[in-house]
Formats: sequence, C-alpha cells, structure tokens
Amino acid sequence: MPRRSTSKTASETEHCCRPMTAQANWECAQHGSVFDCADAVVRYDTESREYGLIIHDGGTSYLSITFCPWCGQRLPKPRRRWTFGRT
Ligand SMILES: [Zn+2]
Ligand SMILES: [Zn+2]
Repeated sequence: MPRRSTSKTASETEHCCRPMTAQANWECAQHGSVFDCADAVVRYDTESREYGLIIHDGGTSYLSITFCPWCGQRLPKPRRRWTFGRT
C-alpha cells in the first residue's frame, strides 16, 4: 500500500516513543487545532519544545508534563526565553 502522507514526513520529529511521536505530530483533517480535536491528547510546541496534556474545556488549556504518559521517560526540558538571563 502506498503511503498516504507526502508532505508530513519531512517535518515529523522523533520523540521518546511511537504514541508520543504520533501525538506530538498530531494532524487532524477535521480540526484545525489540536485543542478542538477530542482525539488529541498531547500537544508539543515546536518553538518552546514544551509538552502539554491537552485539557478539552473549549479553550486552549494544557498541563505541562515532564514525563511521557506512555513510556514514562523523562521528556527533554523546554526552552524558555526567560531562563537565559539569571536574576
Ligand atoms: Zn514516550
Ligand atoms: Zn480531530
């Protein structure tokens, strides 16, 4: 069977395990945002590299997670702009 996705694979980032990779690269044909998609569990911010557990309350709430809910591995620390300068 031919692979259906053509443009998707290039931008896909590898994560700790397969379910996390699938969730972090989540794309839904019916929902433009992961927050609108009930099947999306985890969001991954490519800029801050932050993992978050999506809270489906109609908004864009999420809970930051430091461990993978599937394999239990510690997730890489997010990049935060404000941590560069120490106070
Ligand atoms: Zn994992
Ligand atoms: Zn969806």
